[in-house]
Amino acid sequence: MNWTRISNALKFQQWAFREIQRRVEYKAEEYDIEVDTVAPQFTSQRCSHGEYGFTHEDNRDGDEFECLKCGKELHADYNAARNVAWRLVQNWLKSGSGRATSQRALKSGTVNANGDFNASAV
Ligand SMILES: [Zn+2]
Repeated sequence: MNWTRISNALKFQQWAFREIQRRVEYKAEEYDIEVDTVAPQFTSQRCSHGEYGFTHEDNRDGDEFECLKCGKELHADYNAARNVAWRLVQNWLKSGSGRATSQRALKSGTVNANGDFNASAV
C-alpha cells in the first residue's frame, strides 16, 4: 500500500472539485445565475421518495438505488440529485432567505420545500 500515492490522489480530488466549483461559479455569474453548494454526505444513500428520508448504505448498489424500507427503485445518480435538490431547499428554509417557496428545477421535474417531487415531461 502506497500511502503517499493515496494522499496525493485525495489532494488531487479536492483540487479538482474546487476547480470545477470555481469554473461553475465563474460561468454562472456570466449568465446571472446564482450558485449554491450543499453537503453531499449521504445523498447517495438516502431514499428521495417520500418524506421520511430513509438512509442506509445498502440502499445503493452501484448504479442502482433500491430503498430497503419502501422498495423504491431509481437510478442511483438520479436519486442522489433529488436529495441534493431537497437539501438545498432545506438550507434555504433554515437560512430564512425567503426562497423557501422556490422550486429547484431538475432536468425532469422539480423538488419543493416539502420534499415533494413532481416529474414533468421534457
Ligand atoms: Zn424509501
